Amino acid sequence: MTLSLTLTPVPAFDDNYLWLLDNGHKALVVDPGDAAPVLAALDARGLTLAGILLTHHHGDHVGGVNALRARLQGPVYGPASEKLPEPVQRLHGGDAIELLGLRFAVLDVPGHTAGHIAYFVAQVPGDAPLLFCGDTLFSGGCGRVFEGTPSQMHASLQALAALPSTTRVCCAHEYTLSNLRFAREVDPANTALAAYAAQCEATRAAGRPTLPVPLGTELRINPFLRCTEPALQDAARRHAPLKLPAAPSPVDVFATLREWKNGFR
Ligand code: ZN
Ligand code: FE
Repeated sequence: MTLSLTLTPVPAFDDNYLWLLDNGHKALVVDPGDAAPVLAALDARGLTLAGILLTHHHGDHVGGVNALRARLQGPVYGPASEKLPEPVQRLHGGDAIELLGLRFAVLDVPGHTAGHIAYFVAQVPGDAPLLFCGDTLFSGGCGRVFEGTPSQMHASLQALAALPSTTRVCCAHEYTLSNLRFAREVDPANTALAAYAAQCEATRAAGRPTLPVPLGTELRINPFLRCTEPALQDAARRHAPLKLPAAPSPVDVFATLREWKNGFR
C-alpha cells in the first residue's frame, strides 16, 4: 500500500517555515527552530515524529530539536561539520538516507554557513521532486553569505538550479515579497518576474505561503540564478561600474547583486 504524502509549511517566529512531510501516520520535520508549532501540528493530526532533518546550525533552524526528542522515534540528521544539538547522525554531500519510504539525497551547499547541506527527493510517488534547501535558495532571492565566499554560494545555487525544473523548492523563510522588490529593481524588464510578483502579492494578501515554488519559476525570476543574463550583468555594472569589467563573470555578478541587496531597503 502506498500512503499519500502531505507537505506542510509550519509557520514559526516571524517568517520561518518548519517543513513537515507526513504519510498520515509518520512525519519528518526539517529545521525545527521551535518545538511548539511542530508538536501542535503532530498532535492535531495524530502523527508520530519519525525523523528530524537539519540543514545548518543557526538557532532558528535547530532551536526546537532537544525539546522534540521526547517525541522522536527516529534519528536527527544534520551536516557533517557544524555545531548542532547532539546526538546527530552526520551527513556529507553524496550521502543518501531513507525516511517515510523516500530517498533523500544530501547536497553540499556551502555559503550561508560553511557546512550547509540540502536534501533532495527525486522520486515522490504521484508528485514532483522535493528540495529542502534551508537558507540557501529563497523564492526570488538567496541566503546571505555569512561563512562562505560568494564563489561558494554561487556554485551551491548553480547546483540547486541544475535539479529538475519541476522540483518543489521548500525554503526555510517567507522572504518572497521583499526579495521580489529587489528582483524587480535589478531586472525591471522581466515580464515573468512582474507576473510572479503580482501572483505572490495576492497569495500573501490571502494569508497563504508563497512556498513551495517550482524550481522552473525560480530559474525565470530569481536574479541570483540568472547571473549570466545580459540584463543582470548590466544591472551589476551600473551598480559597481568601477569594480566590474566590461564582461563580468557570473560570480562577479552574483557577488555584486548579493552585496547590493544587503543594503537594499
Ligand atoms: Zn540561517
Ligand atoms: Fe534561517
